[in-house]
Amino acid sequence: MTHRRDLVITIDGPAGAGKGTVATLLARRLGYRLLDTGATYRAAALSVMRAGIAVDDVPALGRHLGQIDIRVVDGRVFLDGRDVSGEIRSQEISQLTSRLSAVRVVREKVTPIQRQEAAGGGVVLEGRDTGTVVCPDADVKFYLTATLDARACRRFDELVAQGSAVTLDAVRAEVAARDAQDANRELAPLRRALDAIEVDTTALNPAEVVDTMAQVVEQRRAERRAIVTACESR
Ligand code: C5P
Repeated sequence: MTHRRDLVITIDGPAGAGKGTVATLLARRLGYRLLDTGATYRAAALSVMRAGIAVDDVPALGRHLGQIDIRVVDGRVFLDGRDVSGEIRSQEISQLTSRLSAVRVVREKVTPIQRQEAAGGGVVLEGRDTGTVVCPDADVKFYLTATLDARACRRFDELVAQGSAVTLDAVRAEVAARDAQDANRELAPLRRALDAIEVDTTALNPAEVVDTMAQVVEQRRAERRAIVTACESR
């Protein structure tokens, strides 16, 4: 019997808290896979938008989602076999994704894809409900926060770097609207898991955040090794 398995690490928090950047760096440092769960919701939203289905037409959403294939391979997201990792980053898709991800049939489509990806461990998941709903038994959970202004500035810089013509005010309004939508929805709302470690990233750079997280993970790995050794020497 083996007790050994790589860890499942979850990172949740609101838009712009820095989850994407630090999850990428942490996964790289640990040699773990990275699962950007928001990207899977965004791929579903892109498909729904292309099909011209209204967010409140639940039967049509259910039928459509039953026919599409969403996969995550090496950090890229594929919709029906096509890499859509770039297309899903627009403001339009951000807003639609937030509305759609409150709909039960959408979460029922996407959550099992994420659980399957996380099975076996050695993975860092980032999103809104990865520590509360997708992997409630994760080994290490983080919850990242930052002020609205800091988060809006980060999103603004990202969008400008991608060539989007946006204003900081519009981005701040969009981030605030998504916060409200994600935190107040009935299903899998954005919230800190009771056992998640909260990190306020407002005044920290990504390397500082990752250092803090890596220390926690190393400690958990050491505890895990001690348990395995104790079990094996019985
Ligand atoms: O993280 P990202 O900004 O790409 O997420 C886009 C949207 O997807 C979020 O605003 C949220 O509504 C939804 N989402 C979710 N659950 C997750 C990840 C993302 O509902 N685990």
